[in-house]
Amino acid sequence: MRILVTGAAGFLGSHICERLIEEGHSVVGMDNLLTGSLENLDGLFGNERFLFVKHDVTNYIVVPGKLDAILHFASPASPDDYLRHPIPTLKVGALGTHKALGLALEKKAVFMLASTSEVYGDPQVNPQPETYWGNVNPIGPRGVYDEAKRFAEAMSTAYHNYHGVEVRIARIFNTFGPRMRINDGRAVPNFITQALKNRPLTVYGDGSQTRSLCYVSDLVEGLYRLLNSKLNTPVNIGNPHEMTMLELARTVKALARSKSAISFKPLPQDDPRVRRPDITLARRHLGNWSPEVPVKDGLAGTIRYFRRKLKK
Ligand code: UDP
Repeated sequence: MRILVTGAAGFLGSHICERLIEEGHSVVGMDNLLTGSLENLDGLFGNERFLFVKHDVTNYIVVPGKLDAILHFASPASPDDYLRHPIPTLKVGALGTHKALGLALEKKAVFMLASTSEVYGDPQVNPQPETYWGNVNPIGPRGVYDEAKRFAEAMSTAYHNYHGVEVRIARIFNTFGPRMRINDGRAVPNFITQALKNRPLTVYGDGSQTRSLCYVSDLVEGLYRLLNSKLNTPVNIGNPHEMTMLELARTVKALARSKSAISFKPLPQDDPRVRRPDITLARRHLGNWSPEVPVKDGLAGTIRYFRRKLKK
């Protein structure tokens, strides 16, 4: 297949591009480099089946030649990033999705949307099945991301129903691994960097809020299977292993053999209290897919990556 990946220079985008190349496909990687980095694509430059195009997908997208699939992964994805770039976040989720869907229609390509567990907002149901409609504050600080992705799901579904475009909607839960940005502000990079520098680990609130962390290789496997499925409705892709943020901080500290203290900071506004995917649908329809990498092993690998990065 010949596949367009938007957000190719990002954390997930770059891992997906690599997987697609490994599978023998040709990839056009597109990114405006707002939060992505060309360094993430170092392993792909020079490959004759990989082409990089710098472009902001909120503007009309032109890709000459055939396309069999379009994977729309462009967006700031960390709360710090989308607080810093609220309007680009809204635009890439809304206008960017519209442009990418228009291209999918034109090329008769399968369209995959990188949606998010944030469509569930601060959920009142735990774990979250795909049938849960969510609890989102549209005008809160996270609304720019949550509502853009909710709009993107609605737009993708409308293109499927009205134009017959084949769509895949992945609701991606917290994912971690190499190539997360050191300063992206999320819990995993913050805790690892702080632990490696023997600085206090900044736990927000009392640390009792939960997340469920999926290692990037497991996530990419789930996405690849979803791409090859026939599911046109949203599917949760994530690891149901739920932990509190205090547990996460302690685990990172122990794995990094760090002397850091733990310091408690104010909880950001609208920070979800709990989050855990119900992955029944993915298991059933994606060949019994479920994450295989234990969180501790994934964290150990990620710590090694950050150690190397910090040395540089
Ligand atoms: N968090 C934290 N310390 C940090 C960064 C984040 O305690 O230095 C908390 C944050 O408040 C949230 C959880 O960790 O409850 C996950 O935050 P992250 O930004 O990684 O992802 P998201 O909130 O989008 O799930």
